[in-house]
Amino acid sequence: MAIKAFTRPFTQQEPINQEAIDAATEVLKSGRLHRYNTFENELSEVSLLEQEYAAYQGSKYCLACASGGYAMTIALKAAGLKLGESVLTNAFTLAPVPGSISNAGGTPVFVEITKDLVLDLDDLSKKVSESGARFLLISHMRGHLVDMDKLMQIVNEYHLILIEDCAHTMGTQWRKQKSGNFGLAGCFSTQTYKHLNSGEGGLLTSNDEEFMARAIIYSGSYMLYERHSAAPSSEVFSEIRLQTPNYSGRMDNLRASILRPQLKNLEKSINRWNERYQLVEAELREINGMEVPQRLDEERYVGSSIQFRIPGITKSEAERFIKKNKQLGVELKWFGNDDPSGFTSNHKSWKYVSQQQLNISDDILSSLFDLRLPLTFSLEDCMHLSKIIIECSNEFIKK
Ligand SMILES: *Cc1c(COP(=O)(O)O)cnc(C)c1O
Repeated sequence: MAIKAFTRPFTQQEPINQEAIDAATEVLKSGRLHRYNTFENELSEVSLLEQEYAAYQGSKYCLACASGGYAMTIALKAAGLKLGESVLTNAFTLAPVPGSISNAGGTPVFVEITKDLVLDLDDLSKKVSESGARFLLISHMRGHLVDMDKLMQIVNEYHLILIEDCAHTMGTQWRKQKSGNFGLAGCFSTQTYKHLNSGEGGLLTSNDEEFMARAIIYSGSYMLYERHSAAPSSEVFSEIRLQTPNYSGRMDNLRASILRPQLKNLEKSINRWNERYQLVEAELREINGMEVPQRLDEERYVGSSIQFRIPGITKSEAERFIKKNKQLGVELKWFGNDDPSGFTSNHKSWKYVSQQQLNISDDILSSLFDLRLPLTFSLEDCMHLSKIIIECSNEFIKK
């Protein structure tokens, strides 16, 4: 019997909940949407979000800003990146990552990944030595954490300045430590497809007071930084406020107001994502010749998307596999395509960066497929789409 097509959209997030809608309505009624448009002794929605996110994250400081990409850009600037300096990052990531390095005046140096989709730590050591880079902007791409103990050994050995791109790891932990808390700073996105949804938005966290003071001035605080509540004390700003340019990229109260109620539900959402992930993972693991990345026991992940590989699949087969899935309503992304499409691109299409040889990563990406697992999918939906993927994979699996 032919399998029924899947009809749910892969880009449909859950509606914004009523509490968030009510909070947003209050902000709209007040007319005070700008984060510094406050009465005396009043904390704005943005400041409250920063306080609450810092508490959730377990970091001293938090800055809400315009996007995740913006958070990474000012993080690199506030960390002291100089024009033309090298920044190490993953070969497998999304366009805002090399984009933020370029925006901050740096030069991306790509590090190979492993088939578990994390940084190849041997290649990292090699590239640190070769490039002399001081910075590592690690991208925990698609929520996969590298062995953080081993990573930190390398970071410490070479005195690397570590900034974490946590766009896919908000809420993820390595043992009890949250991703984003390992280095100088963590960068998060609240763009619609991430773990909190305000359309656009970013959060930057750190325990370093001078770093955070610089980031706050960069973000466009003018001389109003004392209205931040998850920020260092005003003495820290005394010189920094005059030496740091204003790169306007603030968050507004409307967005913050809809994020605060969502943050309260984040842990629940994580459990729901993981139920979906584990179901699809178990189905795909049944199939010989299909590989799902291994995760380490120390990792408490957030399974908001899933990846799998069909080793040995050729480019034209991969294209046919994707087409077959699409005909049955399952939207797979493929990072092996020479032509960037939609949100998906790879290092070969980032032509503003000097081309780098990344044969291991290219080989992995050519057989790698990726799909979102939005919370609007029921467990039944997840079972259904797994069956479709498996059925479509049949003819491409190398026995
Ligand atoms: C979404 C994303 C970002 C940043 O996102 P913005 O759209 O700028 O908020 C950074 N890194 C990765 C891997 C992402 O997927």
